[in-house]
Amino acid sequence: LLKQASKSIALAFDRTITFEMTEQDITIVGDEEKLKQLVYILLDNAQKYSEKAIRLSLKKTETDAVIEVKDYGEGLSKQDQQAIFDRFYRVDKARARETGGTGLGLTIAKAIVDQHEGRIEVDSTLGEGTTFRIFLPL
Ligand code: ATP
Repeated sequence: LLKQASKSIALAFDRTITFEMTEQDITIVGDEEKLKQLVYILLDNAQKYSEKAIRLSLKKTETDAVIEVKDYGEGLSKQDQQAIFDRFYRVDKARARETGGTGLGLTIAKAIVDQHEGRIEVDSTLGEGTTFRIFLPL
């Protein structure tokens, strides 16, 4: 699913997305269409808010599959990191107008993660880039 999603986004937006998977036997139970939508939202944001390469990876802990989407773009302040999962929240109005969007993507992403009893985390540094990490129970 991740490999397919990264190929589609790379092709559609003419971007480089590297995909890394440390183990082969990672199985989770979930709604395939919703999980696809979740990955699309994060990859689409990564390509919108960064110009450099995007990295997608899958690994696992003892309890969870961990999907990571990493970009080296503009990043988010601590304050924005707390608000981006809120409905209709978009960071800078002028910037937001340029990229377009509704501010709903991450709200939907979080709802999908919640429906799978997982969690989503953001880790970002202004000017350096952003990593979204999703934990889904194995
Ligand atoms: P859409 O609903 O069409 O996806 P959107 O991208 O504005 O529009 P969200 O996906 O909810 O909405 O993102 C909310 C805001 O978080 C964005 O407007 C953007 O400012 C910020 N954001 C999201 N992803 C990133 C990222 N990878 N790097 C920097 N900022 C980001």
